[in-house]
Amino acid sequence: MSNTDTPIQTDALIVGAGPCGLFAVFELGLLDIKCHLIDILEKVGGQCSELYPEKPIYDIPALPIVTGQELTDKLMEQIKPFAPQFHLGERVDVLTREADGRFRLTTDDGKTFLTKVVVIAAGGGSFTPKRPPLPGIEAFEGTSVFYAVRKMDAFRDKDVLIVGGGDSALDWTLNLQPIARSLTLMHRRDEFRGAPHSVEQMRSLVAQGQMKLLIGQATQVHGSTGELEAVTVKTSGGEQKLACNRLLPFFGLTMKLGPVAHWGLNLHENLIPVDTARFETSEKNIFAIGDINSYPGKLKLILSGFHEAALMAQAAHKTVYPDKKLTFQYTTSSSSLQKKLGVR
Ligand SMILES: Cc1cc2nc3c(=O)[nH]c(=O)nc-3n(C[C@H](O)[C@H](O)[C@H](O)COP(=O)(O)OP(=O)(O)OC[C@H]3O[C@@H](n4cnc5c(N)ncnc54)[C@H](O)[C@@H]3O)c2cc1C
Repeated sequence: MSNTDTPIQTDALIVGAGPCGLFAVFELGLLDIKCHLIDILEKVGGQCSELYPEKPIYDIPALPIVTGQELTDKLMEQIKPFAPQFHLGERVDVLTREADGRFRLTTDDGKTFLTKVVVIAAGGGSFTPKRPPLPGIEAFEGTSVFYAVRKMDAFRDKDVLIVGGGDSALDWTLNLQPIARSLTLMHRRDEFRGAPHSVEQMRSLVAQGQMKLLIGQATQVHGSTGELEAVTVKTSGGEQKLACNRLLPFFGLTMKLGPVAHWGLNLHENLIPVDTARFETSEKNIFAIGDINSYPGKLKLILSGFHEAALMAQAAHKTVYPDKKLTFQYTTSSSSLQKKLGVR
């Protein structure tokens, strides 16, 4: 623990411990750049572990199928040799430049860092699920009402109501239907924004009588001491009370850039423009990788962030070691890289 009087000094400070922030540790570590990472969430993995830990990802190179949590765990294993320091449950609020060119960053917990390089890997910023306008819903949050599925088992043998028409609502409908005691999907209209294949699968389950589809809106929640018992739903047939003990509203996320907006960087539509050789922002030695950055042709994919991390690290090396020449090396053949990885 540190306070504003005794700053933690580091080569690189990574804002955000999502997949791109984690992989940045690896690329920086290979170049002897030590990192600290800060994340608002209590755990690492960003969107992968917070929003879809048990969902399979199919487009990570050489991993034909890996869940969000497995990918996070594998990244943690991969960066272990570099012993990164994590500061979880803290938000980076303030960033200022010191006279010697380093940056001073302060968290909402009063922790202060002095760093030569800042890597912003803040994804969608401080993302928060949108709460549906249901009076009293707060009392059920975390016990019966959830905005993400952390453990599928929490829904086993439950009467589940999922509300929404996008990919999250459809995906969780398909994933939870086999284990729930009953499952109802409700959307305000009979058209879905989610993948057509998921819509087809959902309609087929409805046709087989394995789940219910309601077109309408939830208007009230009922229950006591955090235990949901029913939700009043309004459909074209009128109002009815639907018995359920788990509610999953998927009304989207508010992607608030948060404090990053006040760090004096050029922004474009809440993203940070960067160049594609160094992934540097409008401020020298402040880099931005992953979902938070923008450049022509940007794809918000994990693999894009991995590539960006590799190039960012090369650029950061020039700042951290201005007098050292950087020689390009492969991990397969470089004994010095293998020593850093602890495999030799
Ligand atoms: C349902 C779903 C399915 C997806 N499927 C795929 C897929 O199949 N393939 C694929 O490639 N991509 C997929 N994605 C997208 C992928 O998850 C993102 O591209 C990826 O998570 C971006 O990683 P990141 O590290 O840039 O940001 P994030 O994962 O968003 O992590 C950013 C972290 O920064 C933290 N943060 C933000 N601001 C601050 C601050 N001021 N202080 C401290 N911490 C801060 C946040 O808390 C967060 O943990 C999917 C996304 C979703 C939602």
